[in-house]
Order: sequence, then structure tokens, then C-alpha cells
Amino acid sequence: MELTPYYQKDMECLNCKKKFKTTKVRSKFIKVLSHETDFQPIYENKEVNPLLYNIFVCEHCGFSFSDDFTKYFAPGVKETIQEQIASKWTPRSFGDERTIEEGITAYKLGILSGTLKKEKFVSIAGLALRIAWLYRLQTKQEEEIRFLEIARDRYADSFSNDDYNGTQMSESRMLYLIAELSRKIGDIENATRYFSKVIEKQKTSTEPSIIEMAKDRWHEIRAQKEKEAQ
Ligand SMILES: [Zn+2]
Repeated sequence: MELTPYYQKDMECLNCKKKFKTTKVRSKFIKVLSHETDFQPIYENKEVNPLLYNIFVCEHCGFSFSDDFTKYFAPGVKETIQEQIASKWTPRSFGDERTIEEGITAYKLGILSGTLKKEKFVSIAGLALRIAWLYRLQTKQEEEIRFLEIARDRYADSFSNDDYNGTQMSESRMLYLIAELSRKIGDIENATRYFSKVIEKQKTSTEPSIIEMAKDRWHEIRAQKEKEAQ
């Protein structure tokens, strides 16, 4: 029997506790060829995109979450979710293979659910960034920019509130992302400011590759400015 790239996993909804199925991609089918300057992975197999399956959409109540969501619900949050999501939800499954469009819808449900549940800014930023990457695959530039800006703003919130502490996000990577997303949305002032912060940390950083990437982007901005000045 030929092994397919996909398998089904049993999930339990963090909110309503009911069971549902979600699709995952087998890791042997995921090979990353390279990354874009904002860390978007470029996969060898263009037909199988694991990014589409990071969000688990509960078919019963609509609450949608990722592996990064905590199990804890603050007092009153479940009532808000009931009012804002579950009461408006028409039961539908996202459990099969997803189109890019369905992947985007799943992430948007994830952002709504995560925002109501008060998940960390760094988690919400990650979801918005992935939506931008999916719009990039569809070459929908306006939508891509819109979500790059949301991601940039939430990463900036995360940085100023220090809520990425204890996650996989390092300070260098966070500052780099704020800078690069600013550059991509045309906010050159903030891009320059945050790339400088990354480069300032080169003596203490444990991530030389991030420092190099920041220097490359910095030089690109300088070259662009000189070109415009001519
Ligand atoms: Zn549920």
C-alpha cells in the first residue's frame, strides 16, 4: 500500500471538550528547500503544504486553536466564545485536506479564537504571518500586506509586553521580524530602527545567522535609498 502524505488525528476541543478529526501531513513528506526573508518556508513538494493544517477547527463549536494555545481559560472567556463564535457557528468540518482558501479561513478563526481567549501576542502574530504567507502563494498582494502589518503590530506588542519569554521566539529573531515585516509593508523608518537593534546585539547574540540576515536587509535598504537619491 502506498503511503499518502496525509493522516487523520483525533482531537479534543479545548473549549467544548468534544472530539473531532483533523488532517496532518507526515513529516517524511515535508522537505524545506529554503526560506524567504521573513522565514516563510519554501517546500520541495508544492502540492503538500503543512502550513494549511496548523489550526484545529472544532466542527461542533467553531473554536479554533493551534499547538501553541494554552489549556487555561480565564473566567468569563468561555461565555464570550459562546456568544461570539459558538452561537453563530454552523457545524462544518475542516478535517479533510484543505485548499489554501480553507487554510486561510482556519487561521482567521484561530486569530478570532486566540484573541478572545487572550492568547499571547506572539502566538497571534504567528497566525497572522502564516495568513500573509498563504496570500503570497495566491499572489494576493494587498491581503498579504494587510496581514504582514497585523503580524508586525502583534510582534511589536509581544516585544513591549515581553510575552514571548519562554517560547521558541528569541529576542534577535523577534526584533528581526519586526524590522523585516516593517520593510515589507513600506515602513522603512521602523525597519531601519529595528534592524539597528538586531545588529547592536551582535556581540551577545547566539544567532549569528539572524545578525547576518539583518545586515543584508540593512544594506538593501541603504542601496535602495541611494538609488532613489540619484
Ligand atoms: Zn468545540
